[in-house]
Amino acid sequence: MKDVLVIGAGGVSSVAVHKMAKNPELFGKVTLASRRKFKCDAIAQSVKERFGATIDTAEVDADDVDATARLIDQVKPKLLVNLALPYQDLNLMEACLKTGVDYLDTANYEPRDQAKFEYGWQWAYQDRFKQAGLMALLGSGFDPGVTSVFATYIKKHLLDTIETLDILDCNGGDHGQHFATNFNPEINIREVTAPARHWENGGWVETPALSERQVFIFDQVGAKNMYLMYHEELESLVKHIPEIKRARFWMTFGEQYLTHLRVLQNVGMTSIEPVMYEGREIIPLQFLKAVLPEPATLGETTKGKTNIGDIATGTKDGAEKTVYVYNVCDHEDAYAETGNQAVSYTTGVPAMIGAALMLNGHWRGEGVFNMEQFDPDPFMDMLNQHGLPWQVKELPEPLRF
Ligand code: NDP
Repeated sequence: MKDVLVIGAGGVSSVAVHKMAKNPELFGKVTLASRRKFKCDAIAQSVKERFGATIDTAEVDADDVDATARLIDQVKPKLLVNLALPYQDLNLMEACLKTGVDYLDTANYEPRDQAKFEYGWQWAYQDRFKQAGLMALLGSGFDPGVTSVFATYIKKHLLDTIETLDILDCNGGDHGQHFATNFNPEINIREVTAPARHWENGGWVETPALSERQVFIFDQVGAKNMYLMYHEELESLVKHIPEIKRARFWMTFGEQYLTHLRVLQNVGMTSIEPVMYEGREIIPLQFLKAVLPEPATLGETTKGKTNIGDIATGTKDGAEKTVYVYNVCDHEDAYAETGNQAVSYTTGVPAMIGAALMLNGHWRGEGVFNMEQFDPDPFMDMLNQHGLPWQVKELPEPLRF
């Protein structure tokens, strides 16, 4: 039984559903449900046109546990794939427990009223999933997701111990807009404007948002400014690979993006505190999202490549060694295949792969799991087969910053 119910109909979902339909040997019936059914129908139509496959569609408010449970009872999937927003994670986990269905997502739960990124809320479900004999796989996107699997691949095959780990996320794409985000703007801006945090010698070190910058030359993209940020996979990686002494996450941003962001922040448009407007409460950041381009519409104009990977320094056979594992993804190729740009593609493909490995039993367990807790090899093989090939390079020396 390999039927799946996918929740959410944005860019990431569109890629995952296209890839599921393209690989009928890995998936049974695919049902796509979201807050607005017409968005599901548009994806279903594209899937039909591209691959001749039929997927079912439905409407559901994923914040309503009972409504989701009713839909699950109707569809009877083996697995629920949550590609809605981080706000829905806990409600969808509840619906899965209620109906006895496995769960997968790509981003950790966030409460709407505070930009707080941590796995605690979802790890707290460990006992309940375990007792129910169900599995929840957290963070099966690119970062978290592939970057977590790269770390375990390094640990399994390339280094005996990992001392330092740097995750480098570069989007060298240009969408031709003055200001737009490549995934959900509200989630993206909450993440980018949060203080930076990295792991060093057993504790978290916090620095102001976007205050630490380095230049790095990315393969097939070139030299880019990248900024130290907090990213959720750091929390689970230092838990599951406790030998790591320092773990950092870097993301590239262009000057134009940062200038717009600074202005929007200065005028209060990125705030998540409610304000009164014409007699009703609105959240400035949610209003901003409403006027920004939808990430799913950026595919047609985006050119260039993403380059995301892990640089790890440690020892191999007693000697110091630094390795770099990364993927380069082309925005125009991603669009040609699925109608979506590379940021959606690099998230939707790993969601599809994680789902396939849960359904075929290669990745199996009872409880709540992060990506690095499983054997990286089948996942790494599938990345090569399904559009996200990776490469390994040995660097002459550790990062000097
Ligand atoms: P989008 O905003 O494009 O899509 C989200 C979808 O969820 C929309 O279709 C939206 O509906 C739907 N949705 C929102 N609320 C509800 C609800 N209450 N009930 C049902 N459906 C709902 O986001 P993206 O596709 O860009 O991102 C999807 C997820 O992927 C996010 O959680 C994001 O954080 C994560 N992500 C993870 C990455 C990784 O590498 N791990 C990278 C990029 C993204 P509507 O269309 O009606 O608004």
